[in-house]
Amino acid sequence: MQELLSYSAVELGRLLRRGELSVREATEAALQVIDGGQSGNNAFITVTAEQALAQAERAQQRLLAGEGVGPLTGVPAAIKDNICTLGVKTTCASKIMGDFLPPYQATVMEKLEQAGAVSLGKLNMDEFAMGSTTETSFYGPTRNPWDLNRVPGGSSGGAAAAVANRECWYALGSDTGGSIRQPASYCGVTGMKPTYGAVSRYGLIAYASSLDQIGSLARTAEDCAAILDVIMGKDRRDGTSLDAPCGGLLAGLNPDLTGKTVGIPVDCFEDGLDPDVRARVLSVADVLKGRGAKVEEFRLPVMQYVVPTYYIIAAAEASSNLSRFDGVKYGWRAQGYEDLTDLYCKTRTEGFGSEVKRRILLGTFVLSSGYYDAFYRKALQVKHVIKSAFDDAFTKYDLILMPVAPTTAPKLGESLSDPLKMYLSDIYTVSVNLAGLPGLSMPCGFDRRGMPVGAQLIGPALGEQAILNAAYAYQQDTDYHKQAPAAAEGGETA
Ligand code: GLN
Repeated sequence: MQELLSYSAVELGRLLRRGELSVREATEAALQVIDGGQSGNNAFITVTAEQALAQAERAQQRLLAGEGVGPLTGVPAAIKDNICTLGVKTTCASKIMGDFLPPYQATVMEKLEQAGAVSLGKLNMDEFAMGSTTETSFYGPTRNPWDLNRVPGGSSGGAAAAVANRECWYALGSDTGGSIRQPASYCGVTGMKPTYGAVSRYGLIAYASSLDQIGSLARTAEDCAAILDVIMGKDRRDGTSLDAPCGGLLAGLNPDLTGKTVGIPVDCFEDGLDPDVRARVLSVADVLKGRGAKVEEFRLPVMQYVVPTYYIIAAAEASSNLSRFDGVKYGWRAQGYEDLTDLYCKTRTEGFGSEVKRRILLGTFVLSSGYYDAFYRKALQVKHVIKSAFDDAFTKYDLILMPVAPTTAPKLGESLSDPLKMYLSDIYTVSVNLAGLPGLSMPCGFDRRGMPVGAQLIGPALGEQAILNAAYAYQQDTDYHKQAPAAAEGGETA
């Protein structure tokens, strides 16, 4: 049983196709870990056991018939709870969503269905994907399976914890400013945020629409390639969806990096970076060199502007997107109001948590007529400068290597008291969203406390294959991605 859960998604898919085990067996094994509470990490908000077993049955039929079968057919997954699932409660980890049952399926869910996926349920997250620790969830924090006293990162903390703890073979998350890559890094899994527009956002509950992107969390780069092959592609229901070639990433994986140049922005390895993280991330360069890549250092001075620019734009868009939650159209409604204004006010006061309110207030402020030019317009201009700096770097380098986060996972409760410090810890991830680029986080070792460290690979727009190739090459030569926390191996967690 434990062995079954230790396979990667692609490996499990292969065993299922060969008939070496049934989809039901795989699904039940995962459900047992989730329901058995073996984990105690609160990764799931909703478990859809019955639906999963029905999907398992259908996937098995397909496998037997040999029709519509792909690498992930029958492989059980789980979904971040800001992705709309038809008839399955979607909460965004917020009280204000109440018992919202989406009347439609997100495009990515339709695509998973077509691929014969099994969905085990919905994963915990920071409320409305705002946060870096999964502590702002109305459903309580998720814990890091490597150390239950530490956070799993956020906002896709449930997704990263579930994959790390072997409660599912892969997960879909969303990344607005690092929410896939940072929890992947804290939990020792591989997470990929695709190019902006490469995956449809239809059915993803919006946080900051110009930055939001759905992506994958899994054990390996190979798994991420298989997942992106399923979910990428043009969608007429998302106006920002790209008409780009899709599919073929898994088949195209190539670990030979001869002729590839990797740039290391020295600005990202200076003050404020934990020495263990620094050493582990830099050691990735040596492995890539061993596979034929050339590595060079360069300067990326725009890094000093990325956090304020991101928080102005993200908050502005959040304040606008979240205005729809007013207690009238859907979700939760406050009791005992006097008039319409009072209904809005009470519902939003009681329905949103304090981090979400902070973002709405900040966003409303930077969009207000007196400050629009000084903050919002200025931030849009700086966003352009940041994007140009990356475009420039990609005329010289095929990939950029940098840390994902300045430290490994902090202790529960450490971050919330100081929001500014938490925002600053997003320094290495937000630029990728501002520039609309693809980025991947992969495990590259452990710090002195035994917590996983992640390294980030960034590529030019639609450079997913180049990123995945480098991560695949790295994972051929290392086994950090194969290590699991003691709890997932059936033992005690530290
Ligand atoms: N930590 C960042 C924020 O709070 C990023 C979150 C995300 O990517 N959804 O905004």
